[in-house]
Amino acid sequence: MPKEGSPKFVFVTGGVMSGLGKGITAASLGRLLKNAGLDVTAVKIDPYLNVDAGTMNPYEHGEVYVLKDGAEVDLDLGNYERYLNIDMTSEHNVTTGKVYRSVIDRERAGDYLGKTVQIIPHVTREIKQRVRDCGEGNDVCIVELGGTVGDIEGMPFLEAVRQMGNEQEDDDFMLIHVTLVPVTNNGEQKTKPTQHSVKSLREIGLHPDVVVGRSDDPLEDETREKISLFCDVPEDAVVSAPDVEDVYHVPLVLEDGGMDAYVMDELGIERQGRDTEWRDVVTQEQEGTVEVALAGKYDFEDAYLSVYEALKHAGLHHNVEVNVRWVETDRMDEEDFERIESADALVVPGGFGERGTEGKLRAVRYARENDVPFLGLCFGFQMAVIEYARNVVGLEDAHSSEIDEGTPHPVIDLLPEQYDVENLGGTMRLGDKETVIDEGTLARELYGSESAVERHRHRFEVNPDYIDRIEDEGMVFSGTSTSGTRMEILELPDHPFFVGTQFHPEFRSRPGEPSPPFVGLVGAALEESEEDTVNVEEVA
Ligand code: GLN
Repeated sequence: MPKEGSPKFVFVTGGVMSGLGKGITAASLGRLLKNAGLDVTAVKIDPYLNVDAGTMNPYEHGEVYVLKDGAEVDLDLGNYERYLNIDMTSEHNVTTGKVYRSVIDRERAGDYLGKTVQIIPHVTREIKQRVRDCGEGNDVCIVELGGTVGDIEGMPFLEAVRQMGNEQEDDDFMLIHVTLVPVTNNGEQKTKPTQHSVKSLREIGLHPDVVVGRSDDPLEDETREKISLFCDVPEDAVVSAPDVEDVYHVPLVLEDGGMDAYVMDELGIERQGRDTEWRDVVTQEQEGTVEVALAGKYDFEDAYLSVYEALKHAGLHHNVEVNVRWVETDRMDEEDFERIESADALVVPGGFGERGTEGKLRAVRYARENDVPFLGLCFGFQMAVIEYARNVVGLEDAHSSEIDEGTPHPVIDLLPEQYDVENLGGTMRLGDKETVIDEGTLARELYGSESAVERHRHRFEVNPDYIDRIEDEGMVFSGTSTSGTRMEILELPDHPFFVGTQFHPEFRSRPGEPSPPFVGLVGAALEESEEDTVNVEEVA
C-alpha cells in the first residue's frame, strides 16, 4: 500500500480538442479506484488567468460550482464531488491566476530575494507544491489538466508534470492521455490526430502510460493496435471509451474494459475491496418518466449542470426517469409557456441580472396558481417572493433592487454586509451556512432534521422590512439563518409543493444521496403525472 501521506499521482491530459469528457473519464477512474477500497482525491488544473471561475459567464465554461468553503470553481469539481462522494476545497482547483498571484506575492514579500523569478523553477515549484498538498493523506490523487496538449497556457503545468514524473518513484506516477478518435464518413476510425497529440507530449518530455480513445463506438482491434504501435504504449494500455447514453455508466464501461485493473497494476496497488454501490444505483430499473420544466436564461445544459444532476439523483431515488425540458425565459412565447403548462413540475434556477426575469415571474405565477409542483433555487427563490409580493400581497411593482433600483417595494434587497463591497470576485455570501428549519413545515419533513447545512452564492436576500407583510398573506419562511434574520427556505402550505431555497441544494446532491428539496419536487411531480394519467383514462 502507498505510504501514509504520500499518494500516487495520476495525471490526466487531453489531446486533439476540448470537450471530450476528460473530466468524466478522470472522475470515473477515481470512482473505480475508490470502489477498490482506496482513498482517492482529485485536483483540477485550469490554465486560465482568472483566479477562480466566479467571474466567468456560464456560456464560456458552464456553471460556476460552489464548494463548502465558498470557493467558486470549475464545474468539473462538481463531477469529482459526485463521482467520488467527497467534499473538496478551493485548493483543489489550481488556476494560473492563483499560482501567479502567490508567486508574485512572495516576490513582493522578498521571499526570492536576489533571484530572478522565473516560470522554471519558481512557477513550476509552486504548481507541484499545490498538487502535492492536495494529495496529502490519500492513496491516489488524480490531477486533471484542463485544456488540450499544445495550448500555450498549459505549458508551465505540463513542465511541472514532467518534473514530478522524475521526482516520483516509477509506480507513484502515471500519465493518462484522453484523446479523440474521429470516424470518417465511411465509418473508419482514424488514429492520426491521436498520434500527433502524443507526439506533442513527447516533444516536451512526457510519455503517456495509458491512452484513452474517445469515440462514438468502441475502438476496433485494428485501431487499438495502431495506437499501441504509433504511440508506444502496450495494447492493454489503450482504453476504449465510447459514447454512452448516461455518463454515470462511464465507470462501468471503463471497469468492463479493465482500466482500473491495469492502472492499479501499474501503480503496484492491491485491490482492497469491490464496492458495487455505484453500479447498483445507476443501473436500477426506472419505471416511467416525469417532465420537469427548467425555466432559465442560458439554453445550455452545462450552465445548470448541478440542477440537472440533482434532478437525476432524485429520479434515481424515486425509480423514475426525469426528463428536463428547457424553457427560455427571455423569449417566453406561446410555445415556451405551453412547455410549462404540460410539465409535471417547474424549477426556476439561480441567476443574475434582468434578462428573463419577467418570464420567470410569469412561470412562477402559473405554478403557484395551478398547483404545479415548484422549486425555486436562489434567484428562483427570490422570484417566488417577488411574484407573491406583487400578485398576492398587492405590492405593485415589487422587485429586487438588483433588477430595479428604483422599485417602490424592494422585497429583495442587498445583504447589509455587501454595501461596501467593491471587488466582484469572491465577495458574495458564499459556501456552507446553517439553516434552522421550523417544526411542522414541509421543509422539516423533507430534511427530517431541525437544521441543514447547504451552499450559498448570493448578494441579495429577502428584505426584513417586508417579511411580516408577506407571511401575513400566507407564504411561510420555514428556514432561516441561525441568527433568525435571513430567510433561507419558503413554502406555501396550501399548495401541493411550492418550495424555494435561498441556497443551492443542487451542489450537495449525489447519486445515492439525493438532495431533499429535489426528492420532494420529483415525488410531487410523480403524483402529478399519475393524476394526469388517471384523468386521461377517466376521459377515455
Ligand atoms: N442574483 C441573486 C443574488 O445575488 C441570486 C444569485 C444566484 O441565483 N446565485 O442574490
